[in-house]
Amino acid sequence: MNEYDSNRILDLLKKINYLPTKVIEKADCYILNTCHIREKATDKVYHEIGRVKKKFRNKKKPIVLIVGCVAQAEGEILLKKENYIDGVIGPQSYQKINRIILEIENKSKKIEATEFEVISKFDQLSLIKNSDSKISSFLTIQEGCDKFCKFCVVPYTRGPEHSRSFTEIVAEAKQLVNNGAKEITLLGQNVNAYCYNNKKLSDLLYLLSEIKSLERIRYTTSHPKDFSNDLIKAHSKCRKLMPLLHLPVQSGSTKILRQMNRNHSVNEYLEIIEKLRSENELIKFSSDFIIAYPGETEADFEKTLFLMKKVKFINSYSFIFSPRPGTPAGRLKQIDKKIAKERLFIFQNIADQIKKDYRSRLVGSITKVLFENKIKDNDQYFGRDEYFNSVIVNSSKDLVGKTINVKINQCNHNTLFGDLTLDKLPKEYAA
Ligand code: SF4
Repeated sequence: MNEYDSNRILDLLKKINYLPTKVIEKADCYILNTCHIREKATDKVYHEIGRVKKKFRNKKKPIVLIVGCVAQAEGEILLKKENYIDGVIGPQSYQKINRIILEIENKSKKIEATEFEVISKFDQLSLIKNSDSKISSFLTIQEGCDKFCKFCVVPYTRGPEHSRSFTEIVAEAKQLVNNGAKEITLLGQNVNAYCYNNKKLSDLLYLLSEIKSLERIRYTTSHPKDFSNDLIKAHSKCRKLMPLLHLPVQSGSTKILRQMNRNHSVNEYLEIIEKLRSENELIKFSSDFIIAYPGETEADFEKTLFLMKKVKFINSYSFIFSPRPGTPAGRLKQIDKKIAKERLFIFQNIADQIKKDYRSRLVGSITKVLFENKIKDNDQYFGRDEYFNSVIVNSSKDLVGKTINVKINQCNHNTLFGDLTLDKLPKEYAA
């Protein structure tokens, strides 16, 4: 979502003639878009500002703005602690960025904008064309969260759930497709909580799949609690919806899920997986896990391993619990570091083995790849298959934006390597 936000900030800035530069030292304005999910996010901001200060030691200082979730969480503290920062802007206030820059230019005063004004933000953004021109683009359809999982800062930094209107979303999707997008990933902190005038995410998926040149649709991130039957159905009915679903579970123990305030049990999670599989036998899953959440016993951890082996997630993102200041779980007694590290090691070994087995089964298979870009200085092209696996092939012809069948002949932990298949290949690509 920060990548989407950064692109939209760039679109806004063009209105006051600020354009991106690759040479930091030449910048008149330096904007750091921050994420508060990972540990030590605030320290990283101060560290980064130190780096910028060095670059501008003998030059005119640029306007320095901190935007995003760290700006929201820390607000005025950032301005007080680091004099080099001119403004902090929360994720629901970045529509004000041009006015803030002009005010700082004119009056050299410090500005904090951390109100939750999500409706005004999207109203203003919908007036400005989305100029993102990637083959695979992001589109935010929903923001914020009302779930209040005990470990998470999002409800405090992004505010309550808000869904954008169909009209705004479809118009922006068409802009992206006109710019060259073939794949759109719909974004939201709780994307499947999307609801606008009684229309749900499934309705939106069907509507967007009518856009002719749009080939692929994905959405992320979902919450099991909001996984309705109509959305499950869409996984077989909506042809453009890709068969990989990222569905965070966090733990395989219902006791821990309750303590996290996830509002569903492991059985309910497995029921969703089963329903999706019976709707679409090709579907695969990825997930997020928090290892060693406060109170996690050896038996709870075993249940997480069991879930991993049962579902066979083809990708998983796992971290040891780390407390976020201001969240209820931030005050809980943490599990001994050594035990936590051992559990993470065991978990990741199993997850890696499952991923390895899955990927080695792909060698020899034919997969549909949407090519996104040429690899610099090489006759090689990078794309993704329907399961979001990275694929690289050699080609002397331009493949960007094309969806072509590829025979996989090699793989490593992160990438599949293959050859364009001659049977399905448009004539001009046959060597
Ligand atoms: S549902 Fe997701 S975004 Fe919302 S509080 Fe829980 S982890 Fe955070």
